[in-house]
Amino acid sequence: MPSPRTPAAGPALIPIFGDQLSLGLASLKVADKRRDVVLMAEVADETVYVRHHKKKIAFLFSAMRHFAAELDAAGWTVRYVRLDDTRNGGSLTSEVVRAARDIEARGIVVTEPGEWRVAEMIGAWERETGLPVRVLSDDRFLCSTAEFAGWARDRKSLRMEFFYRDMRRKTGLLMEGDEPAGERWNFDAENRKPAKADLFIPKPLRFENDQTTREVLDLVGQRFAKHFGELEPFWFAVTRRDAEKQLKHFLKTGLPKFGDYQDAMLLSEPFLYHSLVSLYINAGLLDPLSVCRLAEKEYRDGRVPLNAAEGFIRQIIGWREYVRGIYWLKMPEYAERNFLEAERTIPDFYWSGETDLACLRAAIGQTKSEAYAHHIQRLMVTGNFALLAGIDPKQVHEWYLAVYADAFEWVELPNTLGMSQFADGGLLGSKPYAASGNYINRMSDYCGTCRYDVKKRTGEGACPFNALYWDFLDRNAGKLASNPRMTQMYATWRKFTKAEQEAVRQDAREFLDGLKPWEPDTY
Ligand code: FAD
Ligand code: SF4
Repeated sequence: MPSPRTPAAGPALIPIFGDQLSLGLASLKVADKRRDVVLMAEVADETVYVRHHKKKIAFLFSAMRHFAAELDAAGWTVRYVRLDDTRNGGSLTSEVVRAARDIEARGIVVTEPGEWRVAEMIGAWERETGLPVRVLSDDRFLCSTAEFAGWARDRKSLRMEFFYRDMRRKTGLLMEGDEPAGERWNFDAENRKPAKADLFIPKPLRFENDQTTREVLDLVGQRFAKHFGELEPFWFAVTRRDAEKQLKHFLKTGLPKFGDYQDAMLLSEPFLYHSLVSLYINAGLLDPLSVCRLAEKEYRDGRVPLNAAEGFIRQIIGWREYVRGIYWLKMPEYAERNFLEAERTIPDFYWSGETDLACLRAAIGQTKSEAYAHHIQRLMVTGNFALLAGIDPKQVHEWYLAVYADAFEWVELPNTLGMSQFADGGLLGSKPYAASGNYINRMSDYCGTCRYDVKKRTGEGACPFNALYWDFLDRNAGKLASNPRMTQMYATWRKFTKAEQEAVRQDAREFLDGLKPWEPDTY
């Protein structure tokens, strides 16, 4: 219903958020470019609800400015509000209200946001503006939130694997009729090889900064100097064209070995065979289904093996879609979950990067410089440590949301709180991703450079992950010992002598007591 104070023929206001930079966005598809007005705004509230990495803010602002220019060139009227515009009200809502009034909008049409926080804001727009607000489903995802809710209904277990198979059938990706290519749905078991540093490991493309990006870098350098991470060198793609170049580069150079070395970690190779496209897909510069079709073509044309193409496609149509479904199914209570009742304050070194543990130093150091760590670094180094140390999952969640360029709550929260911290009690994973130093040693070259001895369980110089691992099992036995997938670990723990068990408990306690807790506002 148009508002009584606005002419029915006035323009619709089309707010577009920083993660909606897609020309095919649902709200653009229904809009009329000759009449309607697109609103894009760099607002202070969105930059500080967690202290985002400087590179993340720079990436999103520059990508937004380039997208606005792309829309403008395509004939749209774009109202673009810069962060340093003196009239900028500082929040999405204040900018929507101001724009709606200025253009005498007849209504607002918006594509559903990625985050619960923003959905709540949109819920107040009708009241705030007196205008009708139409919220459209975000069809850049393969599975709508309603479809996911239908899939989840009446299921005892919401495991990703079954959802993934449905997405394969729905898209036809890697299907031979009704059967999966290669007669198996999942080739994960073949994707666990450790890697060796060599000259042939591909590097992601590094893009030159144009005038727009340089202006953004100046702004971010001045306004967000206290935020985590290094701003420069800044080399991310900030346009669709460059994001596509990175994707093509990966398909040619990284995808063939993506599967084999998916879980490997190397000190000198932060990116290994990973694609580095999550930030581009999440911001809307790349379309997830098109990305998967191109990966499938590499397999069909015989350039990459099936385990690589399947592994890559599973991450996107499986994990990525699945975590979004879980997020919208379970929010807002999901964010409050703390199944293991973990309450320790996050250690200071997560923000400073200063620690003697070589694996954490590598993963956090790289996070500071690149706003990137690959999945196994996030899950089995920083995530594993936080899990074993019993760190408050809310603080862990805020850390991940702040430090990665690809972090938006809908994808970050289920990965952190569910997959990595087991704070949802096993909704996402059937057991916690807890591991001793042995796993890190097997999959990386970190331990060789570490002052700790990965082979030692307790005593002087022993790798802290070892005592922490067994202590974690011991501390959480009441909640985990009955888990069938943990039976073997608990059987091993029970075989320790009383003295060995006591040494584990004491070493873990001493190590944890020695951690410097983070003090809010230090970083
Ligand atoms: P690749 O390894 O090349 O994988 C290809 C693509 O698959 C990625 O670009 C991404 O789009 C998708 N993908 C892979 N794994 C996942 C997953 N578990 N969930 C969703 N999509 C996936 N991913 C984010 O996009 N944003 C986050 O904020 C985020 N937070 C994470 C927090 C934790 C604790 C963990 C364990 C994982 C998190 N992930 C997140 C998932 C994953 O680590 C990143 O998507 C991946 O590392 C991005 O790098 P890449 O593009 O090189 O991925
Ligand atoms: Fe990490 Fe332990 Fe290996 Fe050191 S020895 S790098 S702390 S796993």
